[in-house]
Formats: sequence, C-alpha cells, structure tokens
Amino acid sequence: MDLNCDFDNNYRGLKDGDSPEEACGVFGIRVTPHTRSVSHATYDGLYALQHRGQESAGMAVSDGKSITVYKNMGLVSNVFDDRTLLSLPGYLAVGHTRYSTTGSSTWGNAQPVFRAVGDSGIALGHNGNLTNTLALADELGISFVDLRSDSDLVAHFLATEIARGLGSKPGAVTESVKCRPDALLDALNVVLPRLNGAFSLVIMDHDRLIGVRDPNGFRPLCLGQLEQGYVIASESPALDVVGATFIREIDPGEMVVIDSTGVRSITPFPAETIDPKLCIFEFVYFARPDAQLLGREVYTTRRKMGEYLAKSLPVDADIVMGVPESGVAAAVGYAAMSGIPFGQGLVKNRYIGRTFISPDPASRVDAVRRKLNVLRDNITGQRVIVVDDSIVRGTTTKAMVKLLREAGATEVHLRISSPPYKWSCFYGIDTPSRPDLLAATRSMDEIREFLEVDSIAYLDLEDLKAAIGFKDNGYCAACLTGEYPVEVPIYMHTKPAVGL
Ligand code: SF4
Repeated sequence: MDLNCDFDNNYRGLKDGDSPEEACGVFGIRVTPHTRSVSHATYDGLYALQHRGQESAGMAVSDGKSITVYKNMGLVSNVFDDRTLLSLPGYLAVGHTRYSTTGSSTWGNAQPVFRAVGDSGIALGHNGNLTNTLALADELGISFVDLRSDSDLVAHFLATEIARGLGSKPGAVTESVKCRPDALLDALNVVLPRLNGAFSLVIMDHDRLIGVRDPNGFRPLCLGQLEQGYVIASESPALDVVGATFIREIDPGEMVVIDSTGVRSITPFPAETIDPKLCIFEFVYFARPDAQLLGREVYTTRRKMGEYLAKSLPVDADIVMGVPESGVAAAVGYAAMSGIPFGQGLVKNRYIGRTFISPDPASRVDAVRRKLNVLRDNITGQRVIVVDDSIVRGTTTKAMVKLLREAGATEVHLRISSPPYKWSCFYGIDTPSRPDLLAATRSMDEIREFLEVDSIAYLDLEDLKAAIGFKDNGYCAACLTGEYPVEVPIYMHTKPAVGL
C-alpha cells in the first residue's frame, strides 16, 4: 500500500533519483542519572547523522520516571531549538533522522516510535527495512490500515509481548500496572528472532538503552564510551561529535544493553541465522567519509576505488574532477593513480535546503543549475574525466553533463566508482523500481548515448571489494548482482521503496 504524500515527492536532494537515498540515522545515549542532561548531545549526534535522513527528526528523553518524545518534519536544526532541548531534561535518550522507505513521509511516521505499557514505555528508532512486515502484521491481527510503517509494527509487537507478560493487551494495561524490570528484554527475546530483513535499532525504556543489529548487519551501528556513560550511533562521527570514544561496531545479530550495571552483550538470534552482509553502498556512498566501518575509514576506501578505476579503466584527458560531494574522494584517487591533474569543475551551493522539482525531465537541468555551477576556467577547452559514485536513474547525471558541455568541455568521460546499479534495494534504501534504473535494461553503449558522454566505465565488483578490503562474502551487493541475501516477497518487488 503506497502511503506516499506530496512532501515526499517534493523534498529531495541534489542527486534526486541519481543516487539511492539513505533511509535513517539512529542515535542513543545513557549517562549516569542526574549528572547531566543528554538532549543537547542527542541533537549533536543527530546533526552528525543528518545525511542519513532529512525528512523528519526526533528524540525520546527519559528522566528515569517518564519518557518525553519530541519529533517533527524537517531537518534536525528545523525541528529543535535551544528552548525545546532545555525542555527535554533526562539522562537517557534515543534519536532518529528519517528518510521514508516504508510508510509515508508524515508526522505520524516520524521517529522515535513510542508505546506506553503499564507504568513503563518504550521508544524506538529504526534504520533499515523489514521484509516480513505484512506477514507479521497478519499474524498479529493488525489491519494494514492501522499500520504506519515496519518500525511501528516492531514497537507494537514489543508492546503486545510486554502486555502479554502482564496477562493483558497493550491498550488494556493502565498506567497503574507495574511492569517487571526485565519486561522489555523478555519481549525483545521473543520479537527480534521473528523479524526478517534489515534493522539497526535503538530502543529505550525509562532506564535502559538498547542497541540491536539484525543477523546480517545490513546497516551499521557502533558503540562509544563517555566519561559517565555510553553512546550508540549509526556512524562513528556521531560519537566523535559528542566526545565519545569509539569502542567497537555492534556485531551482526548482537543486542547491547546499557543500564546502571554497565554494558552487556546478548545474542537473541539463532546462531545459524547470523551471516554478516553489510551494505556495500555504505562504503560507496551512504556513510560519511570520516566514518569507521569494519575498521576502515570510509574516505580511504573511496580514494582506493578511484585508484582501481584509473588502473583498470584509463582514458586520456586534461583534468579529473569529482561530482561534489559524492565523487570527490574517488576522483582524488583516480588523479593520483593516472597522473592527470585533479581539479574542481563544479561548485555546489552549500546552503541549498528544500528544493521543489517538477517531474518533467527538462526541469531537472534547472534543478541541477540551482545546486551546481561550473568553474569555467577549469573546464573550457578541456577534456574532462568526471568521477561519481553511482548512477541510478541517470537524469541528474545527464543534466550535469549538459552543464559541462555548455561551459566548453571538449570531451566528457564518466567514471563510476561502483558497478552498474541494476536492482532495487529492499533493505532500507530508497531506490526506484527496476524499469526506472538506468542500467537495468540498457547496454553500456545505450547508457553512454543517453548520458551524452564520450565514454563511460564502471568499477567492477572485484575491484570494489579489493578497494574496501572485503576478502570474503560478508557484504550485500544485491542492487548490483540481483542476489538478495534475505528473501524478498514478490509484492515488494513491485513497490520496493515506499508503501508496505
Ligand atoms: S541492495 Fe544495495 S543498497 Fe541495498 S543493502 Fe544491499 S548493497 Fe546496500
């Protein structure tokens, strides 16, 4: 069921349709009670994760007695101001930045999701996309009309299990009913093994912070330490910004529980289901360049992708440039390996926020013009190698090539630091359905003609793996190969990115 709304159609970034869109950042923090308030640190953490979702932002904060949730549509800096943060005192919080993959882009679907059960409550932030949402909803007797998103379903399932432990149903448990201290952990042990697909979760009750990564670990999640507590975040820069020391990544299939006794690690999933499949596109595009993933700095892997591109797919030219910001690191690597000078050919408007893009292809050129401008002195009369991370629809790339030609580039050679993007993602990334993917049905010549470039070449999967340092099969590359590590129901193939 497609629940999209106009806001979702209008609110897109520079690479609208030409890169897969990330779908959520999560953050959690717990410090020793009454030592400091954590709402400002949560804001900073979410701000560092803004690239993972720009549609809505929110946080849930606990002072040990009650949980307050504040969320709204828009960027983190639009949703919160100092006054709001001061009105959210507490020592424990989870936060979320959202880009919708299931469910519409509306206030009701902003996260954290909250459920009250008895004298306690649970708040949850989710990065990923479940693949068995409808089957679970059916089993739980939840009408599709009542179901807002897969994340909502997880919260509902947890609340149902907690209530069941109290011999009741969620809505029937009043505030006067006292929950057992381990009620949430018991519920998680029942619920988590029932979820399929991608989920990196931050969850809290009034006193405990929990981080969970699905058995495949599709989306990242890491743990950091503060002098007086702990932090969980989608990416390590969110730890850096709050002054936390990176401890480690949370393992696929691991649940980390943080309370007054410290940190505990639990494995709530059957051992045979644990099979690491980190999204390869976290390295190519999604994660911040300063993020640490699998012990590597993402920027370094991107630069190496550029080096491999130059080695295997050389072309004679005068200047190598990266599409800002997505292609710059790989362009630096390409230039270093090829000996062709690196230069800036495009300047990005740093202050662009919401733009409203008309769906007709001609207006895409205007949209690109609003966000990018050409440095003519570097481009006019030059043979240009343009490096980018990926092409999804190709429409924005085509518009960008047109700008370079209008500025006098004599040749434009496109080099892409990943293999052709041919299949939709069902594990938490918003991508179009297959017919809209440029490389799904076209030959390389057809792609070159469509983009109007002099040559085009993509990095192959073996070189991409080598650049990242993958020696085994511990990654997902389904959008490049069509081999999905977790089964995807047929109905999702017809509505991959939105709806349930
Ligand atoms: S299908 Fe592609 S974008 Fe989705 S998780 Fe796998 S590698 Fe990442």
